[in-house]
Amino acid sequence: MKRVVVLSTGGTIASRPGPEGRNIAGALPGADLVRRVPGIEDIQVEVRSLFQKASNALSPADLQVLCVECQRLIDAGEADGIVVTHGTDTLEDTAYFLECSVRTRDVVLVVTGSQRVPHASGTDAYTNLRDAIRAAASSACRGLGVLVVFNETVHAAAFVRKTSSFQLNGFESPGLGCLGFVDGKDVRIYQQPRRQPLLQPPGGVLPQVEIATASLGAGPQVLRALVDAQVAGIVLEGVGRGQVPPSWVPEVALATQAGIAVLVCSVALHGAVLPCYEYPGSLHNLQESGALGVSGLSARKVRMRLMLALACLGGQGDRETLRLLFDWGACRDA
Ligand code: ASP
Repeated sequence: MKRVVVLSTGGTIASRPGPEGRNIAGALPGADLVRRVPGIEDIQVEVRSLFQKASNALSPADLQVLCVECQRLIDAGEADGIVVTHGTDTLEDTAYFLECSVRTRDVVLVVTGSQRVPHASGTDAYTNLRDAIRAAASSACRGLGVLVVFNETVHAAAFVRKTSSFQLNGFESPGLGCLGFVDGKDVRIYQQPRRQPLLQPPGGVLPQVEIATASLGAGPQVLRALVDAQVAGIVLEGVGRGQVPPSWVPEVALATQAGIAVLVCSVALHGAVLPCYEYPGSLHNLQESGALGVSGLSARKVRMRLMLALACLGGQGDRETLRLLFDWGACRDA
């Protein structure tokens, strides 16, 4: 029998009804949830409750705890697969954090959640958990890195995003597509994701990294506040190929001069950033001010990876080193 460990962290999938008709995310212990999942009789499932939080309240320190527990289970040979149940709001952040920092070896690590509470009619809580457990027990999913299973679909943690606030088809991998499907008892995989280098920093508090989102006429004050707060890194979620309002550029220069890592990605759902323009606020202009463009990741995922990368580098990293750590061309064994 395959052994799957479920690590529950809270979220809608672990909700109980509140006294006034709303739902309390994370109130249901993981074991209560798993007990009601049908179609996994051929798999040995063990449940451990790590947190009981709504996912907006999870912290980088919680992610470190989760990461250490996943790595411990893998290194000790205690599981063939691991399923993390999680609130959907920040599920994509956690899944990618684990993808960056857990050496999965031949263990399948899957993250799932649900859009509907377990006590709602037509809930996806039990079906998503069943599918995640089946995927975690499936040898077809080995070596693919951290996966997100949702609505009978298997996604790579690096590319998946929550695209609906309520529909059961809540997650997509924009522009790239899913890796495969969970079709009843069958797990069918059709694509293999690229993986970036593993980042396993020593323990300790992760460096603070924040996101500033560009939009028409957005003021530069947020950037100044971040510099004043002495954050370790700033992710500029630029528009299009990585542009920001011209008024941001002097603040970016101040940030990089202060030793803050400034990475630029795009708010677009897919496509690379590119220094193809030459005008104030263009990516070329930002690069002249010390920033680094990174492609293939949403701002939230860049933030996760930059926290880990800076932690590995002792809090500060030069542009070339960071560029290599965000590279998609490098190989990764597990
Ligand atoms: N608010 C919930 C959470 O992220 C949403 C969900 O789980 O679907 O904890």
